[in-house]
Amino acid sequence: PIARKCTVHLLGTGLPSFYVADLGPLSFTLGLSGWTANDWSRAGNFDLMAPRADVDDLTKRRVFDALKRSWCDTPDELSKHLDLDRRVVFGALAAYTQAGRVMFDLNKQVFRARELSREPLPMEQLRFANEREAGATRFIESNAVTLTERRLDTAGHLHLSGRIQLNDKLINLRLTLDRDERLSNADCPCNWHKQNKLYQGPCEHLLALRMQHVR
Ligand SMILES: [Zn+2]
Repeated sequence: PIARKCTVHLLGTGLPSFYVADLGPLSFTLGLSGWTANDWSRAGNFDLMAPRADVDDLTKRRVFDALKRSWCDTPDELSKHLDLDRRVVFGALAAYTQAGRVMFDLNKQVFRARELSREPLPMEQLRFANEREAGATRFIESNAVTLTERRLDTAGHLHLSGRIQLNDKLINLRLTLDRDERLSNADCPCNWHKQNKLYQGPCEHLLALRMQHVR
């Protein structure tokens, strides 16, 4: 009876959903993820779904310092203030979000400076705690991945198709990235993907295809 309205944000099959309740002067956001039981604490999977622009430490620091000065800002405002590309700002904010020092406010669509713990989380330990990412890296390093199509649709979604040479066979796969480079749709013939879809994060092949695209 207190909430004036409730907005539901759905990202797609196997991806988290968010509920924003409007309580007048304040709003309450509840995020539910199907990965909670198994993988939530392993940052790897979230990491892999988010933008991965390579941003150097100094630039990251500039973005974080600017955000700390204003406490909350949109990526577009930050990119204007700092004269940096939106992709770079997003990459820096994603890195700090993964480190638990910045959060995204879904209701206001802004990033906020918010230190989750007194000591920053140990990113090096969290980052590569995922066997599938190691597998994907091996495919890339052995040049087994071929990107066959890269198509941007009118909605700004990027569709990637490709194939990967496995030991005994060649597989075809495809994935879609939304405007903010988050994985929104994917298909791979492997068992992992057939069984889990994106519920436990993408399979090593989809990861490899994505890595090949940003190379
Ligand atoms: Zn796969």
